[in-house]
Amino acid sequence: MELLSKTLARVKPSPTIAVTTKAQELKAAGRDVIGLGAGEPDFDTPQNIKDAAVAAIAAGKTKYTAVDGIAELKQAICAKFKRDNDLDYKPSQISVSSGGKQVLYNALMATMNPGEEVIIPAPYWVSYPDMVLLAGGTPVVVEAPLEQNFKMSAEQLEAAITPNTKWLIFNSPSNPTGAGYARDELKALTDVLLRHPHVWIMTDDMYEHLAYDGFQFCTPAQVEPQLYNRTLTVNGVSKAYAMTGWRIGYAAGPEKLIGAMRKVQSQSTSNPCTISQWAAVEALNGTQDYIAPNNETFVRRRNLVVKALGAIEGVTCPVPEGAFYVYPSIAGLIGKTSQGGAAITDDEAFATALLEETGVAVVFGAAFGLSPNFRISYATSDENLTEACKRIADFCAGLT
Ligand code: GLU
Repeated sequence: MELLSKTLARVKPSPTIAVTTKAQELKAAGRDVIGLGAGEPDFDTPQNIKDAAVAAIAAGKTKYTAVDGIAELKQAICAKFKRDNDLDYKPSQISVSSGGKQVLYNALMATMNPGEEVIIPAPYWVSYPDMVLLAGGTPVVVEAPLEQNFKMSAEQLEAAITPNTKWLIFNSPSNPTGAGYARDELKALTDVLLRHPHVWIMTDDMYEHLAYDGFQFCTPAQVEPQLYNRTLTVNGVSKAYAMTGWRIGYAAGPEKLIGAMRKVQSQSTSNPCTISQWAAVEALNGTQDYIAPNNETFVRRRNLVVKALGAIEGVTCPVPEGAFYVYPSIAGLIGKTSQGGAAITDDEAFATALLEETGVAVVFGAAFGLSPNFRISYATSDENLTEACKRIADFCAGLT
């Protein structure tokens, strides 16, 4: 009998994790590697948040908690939704998990049946389609190319909806492109969803606070209140508060769905780390003053990278509205050969040769469902970014 499940055979390991691990291994082996693969802020977690965690330990808050979060954190999350998004939720509508990733996973595990479809605009975050597959559903990918600024149109959404559509997964600002939907662009999508009352909306708002050049973040239930009862609004503390390793994500939605997600979590991981939950209370209730200066740093780095990559022949690098990613096209480089003799047949070959020959780790576009591109996470120092862009430029100039 085959050891591994047929369901697992349908999915692949996370490519973002794979690239990050590879870069760490090469570094540990003494190679001069600049890792632009991992999507996490390089800033330290703010001191007030660390202090709250230490205080929680000192006070003995180290035991199991309610499966989907302590009351204090649920209150803080309700206050956050009111403050930032003008959305009213009760604590009974809130679920807290070990990262946004587990929130999404719980929701899909709680709702998907064989034959049901999930619409996923591409480029997408690597884990959406594989989570849908793990939950037994069918991903329906809608390509939103660079010419559309990586944003799905209302017509594309309308055309993708079938009687079997269960969810649309929406993500703005986006991982991997940084593209953000303006209110009117999002309204065009919510207007389509109003006409299809059987479709639910899972919105991944993880990059909400990383918005630049005056871009106004908005979320589906806020733009179209009539969708409130079929929207799961997902967020977390990882990106805005530099807390990736603390693993706290959360969601708000209808009680029936939140209860089903609680059931999944009660039979898998139980509560997210107690100490991290207390740290997240402080992140949400405490000062938000460091978000703006952090964003100034991100804008400076984004501009540095866009300028450097945009100057390379064969590379097209749009200016994103948010997150800390750029997603340049390398259409002009496909078919060439590197100095090291690698045939650049696609974006995976490009990323592999780039790492081998220059030590710069990026994630290839096929992982995100739209090629030929690659993703850079610019959440690292200006020095690293300057050196990495120079190496990429030299690598590209050496292609023949
Ligand atoms: N969201 C991050 C990324 O895309 C974290 C890694 C992951 O879980 O995919 O790099």
